[in-house]
Amino acid sequence: MTITQSLRKLLGYLGPQRGRMALVVLASLLDMGLNAQLSVSFKYLIDKAIGEKNERILGLIVLSLAVSVVVVSLAGVWRDRQYSRIVGNLAADLRHRMFEHMQRLSLGYYSRTQAGEILSRFSGDLASVEATVLNGVPWGILPLLDILLSTILIFLLDWRLALVALVSFPLALAGPRLLSGRTASAAVDRRQEEAGLVSAVQENVAAQALVKAFGLERMALSKFEQQNGRLRGASSRLGFLMLVMERSAGFSTQILQVAVMGAGGYLVFRGQMTVGTFAAFQSLFVTLANSIGYVAQYLPQLSQAGGSMLRIEELLSEAPQVEDAGTALNLPVMRRGIELRDVTFSYNGQRKNLDGVSLRIPRGSSVAFVGPSGSGKSTILSLVMRFYDPAKGSVSIDGFDLKQVTQESLRAQTAVVFQENFLFETSIRENIRTARPSATDAEIETAARAAGIHDVISALPEGYDTSAGQGGKRFSGGQRQRLAIARALVRNPEILVLDEATSALDGASETLINETIARASAGRTVLSVTHRLGPVTTMDRIFFLDGGRVLEEGTHAELLARNGGYARLWQKQSGFVVTPAGDRAQVTPARLRDIAILSAVEEQTLAEIARSFLTELFPAGRTIVHEGDIGDKFYILVRGTVEVLKAGARVAVLDDGDYFGEMALLTDARRNASVRTIAECTCLVLAREHFHALMERAPNLRESMLTAAAARTK
Ligand code: ATP
Repeated sequence: MTITQSLRKLLGYLGPQRGRMALVVLASLLDMGLNAQLSVSFKYLIDKAIGEKNERILGLIVLSLAVSVVVVSLAGVWRDRQYSRIVGNLAADLRHRMFEHMQRLSLGYYSRTQAGEILSRFSGDLASVEATVLNGVPWGILPLLDILLSTILIFLLDWRLALVALVSFPLALAGPRLLSGRTASAAVDRRQEEAGLVSAVQENVAAQALVKAFGLERMALSKFEQQNGRLRGASSRLGFLMLVMERSAGFSTQILQVAVMGAGGYLVFRGQMTVGTFAAFQSLFVTLANSIGYVAQYLPQLSQAGGSMLRIEELLSEAPQVEDAGTALNLPVMRRGIELRDVTFSYNGQRKNLDGVSLRIPRGSSVAFVGPSGSGKSTILSLVMRFYDPAKGSVSIDGFDLKQVTQESLRAQTAVVFQENFLFETSIRENIRTARPSATDAEIETAARAAGIHDVISALPEGYDTSAGQGGKRFSGGQRQRLAIARALVRNPEILVLDEATSALDGASETLINETIARASAGRTVLSVTHRLGPVTTMDRIFFLDGGRVLEEGTHAELLARNGGYARLWQKQSGFVVTPAGDRAQVTPARLRDIAILSAVEEQTLAEIARSFLTELFPAGRTIVHEGDIGDKFYILVRGTVEVLKAGARVAVLDDGDYFGEMALLTDARRNASVRTIAECTCLVLAREHFHALMERAPNLRESMLTAAAARTK
């Protein structure tokens, strides 16, 4: 789409206001008529009034012009009011279209688009379009009409008196000076309303997964509309003031023009000024200077607005990836279960993120998806909630392909608890209620009790009316999770989806919340993604994924007996004892033997090494190891998640049971990567100095470690 096309599109959006627009153009013709009247007046002034020395005609001409100026100006003020409404409506309509379209766009769009990109369309771009359209009449249409007229009149001009026009400048500035204070404060008001609107949009962008999962589109839209209405009012007020400011300059020059006409006519009467000089003054003053100046300033603005309009159109023409089919049915309450049949899916159309996945989840059962990071666990949940459609194969509930049912009826049966849960800037009660707007206060309380958060809420001075604050920052991680669970439960979902719901919590909170979840899950179908295996041992079925495929499936005992990927994952996370508070950990000697460089170490020495480890806790976002530093510690990650970075780029993610930095025990080489925590981490740390003390007591320790290390690098 070119800029011209986008501007044409913009004209199209004015379509519904055609009637009002026609009135505005008609009122603009009055302005042009006034200029024509002024020119034609010269003829009567010169031929009749001056030629025949008739004072009555002179008086009549001056009077009729004065009346016209006042009438046309008043009509102009009315026109400005109409036009500022048109522009206010146009901008509100564009905002509404963009926001409504955003509610239809799929999660895929949000994961590849930065929030600011979307927000700037609502602020900078829309503001530029709005300002340009507002200036369209006074800076575009009117000056063009005037230029046309003045070109006809130019034959009558005498430029020598043009200097007289300079007198009008201070007069023309007087009006804007008087109005500038009010206009500036109206501009501040508008900016504030705009900021409120941008925040509302920002919140909606951040909460899209939740809005989708709980079908909050309509609620979000109506909340947004209130703010949009306030901004519409402020915009229209500011627009009106800006236009009156412009008009006041024109009004002063026009009044001056009439006065000069009277005075000039009088002077000509007295024989002190020629008729040609008199006419030249009028024409010069009114037209060319101002009009050409306006148009010259307007053109750059117009092309800038064309660019902004292009960006707005880009958003509006973005096609939703997931849409209800025209024939979509309402999904009946689930009776049998969920089935994925040979599902293949890719986020970017190149790499398969799920590859031929087939599985069944009977109604009422609890299943877990486990496997290495990036293996596709969360992607399966996204497909079951139909955030995306599979490229091949089908996801169905009771035999209904999800592509054939309405998203609303599907989402009505699901509720989800994420690792990070968004809380809206409203009361706790309303936050829980978002999942089911019809929920009574009693139902909200029941859900909060079931989620084990009722007592905490009741102890707050304002109880359930307490504001959740910016994104729920006033609550601890565990409390936020409980609020999210309450929100999910108030929906009474058939299918409860847990996506790493307890991963970001400390050990003590995790255990308690897992108990709460287990209670709340009774009678529901539970789909849980977790990288921590403790809670999955009691689940009805476990799916072990790797590389987008389900490699193993069964109960905990069955999968351990298979001795495959799940058993290895279990092994990796076993062998640690952590105090309930999570502040002290221990590792068993047997578990140490799984660490490659310790595999050949004697039993007794391993026990001594195990005792030499100290527990260290790291908050999320802490860099534990810096690339390039001399290493002096070996770390075992007992619980938590870290990322491994080389030159700032992530090369791996490690979690419970992984270890790093072991070579620091043997050599003082520089670290070849940085390690930064993603979630809170509990580590067992062995310092080189402790280790060297051990080596002195067990002389063949170093040798057996070097042998193992050499074997590993072969
Ligand atoms: P983790 O335990 O780290 O959350 P996971 O097993 O849940 O991993 P998924 O989140 O399902 O893995 O991701 C599977 C693959 O798809 C990964 O390679 C990931 O990088 C990629 N992926 C996930 N979400 C997107 C997205 N929105 N756009 C593009 N690629 C994505």
